Amino acid sequence: MQLKTILNRVEKHKSFVYGEVKLEEEEGRLRLEIEIKARANGLMICSGCGEAAPGYDRLGKRWFEFVPLWMIAVFFVYEMRRVKCEKCGVKVERVPWAKGKSQLTTTYQWFLARWAKRLSWSEVAAAFNTSWEKVEESVKMAVEWGLENRDLSGVKAIGVDEIQWRRGHKYLTLVYQIDEGAKRLLWIGKDRTIETLTEFFEMFGAERSALLEFVCSDMWKPYLTVIAEKAKQAVHILDRFHIMAKMNKAIDEVRAEEARRLKEAGAEPLLKNSRWLLLKRPENQSEKQMGKLMELLKYNLKPVRSFLLREEFQRFWEYRSSSWAAKFLDQWCSAVMRSRIEPMKKVASTLRNHRQLILNWFKAKGTLSSGKVEGLNNKVKLTMRKSYGFRTQKTITLALYHTLGALPEPEFSHRFC
Ligand SMILES: [Zn+2]
Repeated sequence: MQLKTILNRVEKHKSFVYGEVKLEEEEGRLRLEIEIKARANGLMICSGCGEAAPGYDRLGKRWFEFVPLWMIAVFFVYEMRRVKCEKCGVKVERVPWAKGKSQLTTTYQWFLARWAKRLSWSEVAAAFNTSWEKVEESVKMAVEWGLENRDLSGVKAIGVDEIQWRRGHKYLTLVYQIDEGAKRLLWIGKDRTIETLTEFFEMFGAERSALLEFVCSDMWKPYLTVIAEKAKQAVHILDRFHIMAKMNKAIDEVRAEEARRLKEAGAEPLLKNSRWLLLKRPENQSEKQMGKLMELLKYNLKPVRSFLLREEFQRFWEYRSSSWAAKFLDQWCSAVMRSRIEPMKKVASTLRNHRQLILNWFKAKGTLSSGKVEGLNNKVKLTMRKSYGFRTQKTITLALYHTLGALPEPEFSHRFC
């Protein structure tokens, strides 16, 4: 069987045929060169407008890299033509196997992009003997295609989240779809300002925004402002995960300050190695940790009291009735305001200020599970860690859309991987 027979089966192009196949060797590396020829009666397409146009002249040969075979590099070789288009003037023709000036065939780009979902970009480059830049180019093509062809209808619940992607307060705003059975990253924007989130709603459109039923976010003021304006009808919920994270941050602050105070007073290092004891939920602790925690509880230290306040607060989420939950919330806040633990008092007054949005959680209970934003947030962090080679916002954005966007792909007549 000839290679051409296989190619005609897996990658056939209208108006073109496969010609001669040559095996070449260059610097110890094998490569297959497959000639492509235009059919004499085939149409020539203008790359400017996509319409048929008469031929003008021929350019030199171009090499287009295709999916490697047995670790042998494969290239299509084709002599590009130019057309004389009525609308666009003299333009290079459009060929079906590659886009624009790319040296990679579209099939090979999809192949690399698919692998880039399973491996890091540098691993893909190493595995297929190509460069990081070509993997990036492929992912970019796949993401652009996916964003253009995705379906944004039927989104009822979204979660707004922020992530620090660099030291020195560089943030990205992420918007997820968090509907039951349809979790995906919808959008990424620079910073976490009013403009940032407004940009999302502009992309999403007023019509779709009006159909949103739930919006989940943290207490970041610019987000609250934009959501109140752009998705008035939706129940706005302050996310459990973000509230508890705020509390943990306060506990950590209290602990650090108390440790400093004890050290200055020459007291024994009671709080040494206590960070995780205080931040972890008791049910997630080992026996040894529990023992140490019990020991710590004997002392009426501020970090310990903060820890107990947080544990007490967990009860809030267990309520079924929002009026009982509201009562509990008010009592908890009053108790904290009397505690003289400044960082915790700050948390309590924030909760008071956002009382209604927090209580909205009970309106969504049963519809939205609380772990969704948290789960997606963890995946984002994992993707960012796996790809620490991504120094720019552009590449991080591509990688996140690619792995978490659940973007569609075209229908292929043959799957190469
Ligand atoms: Zn044209």
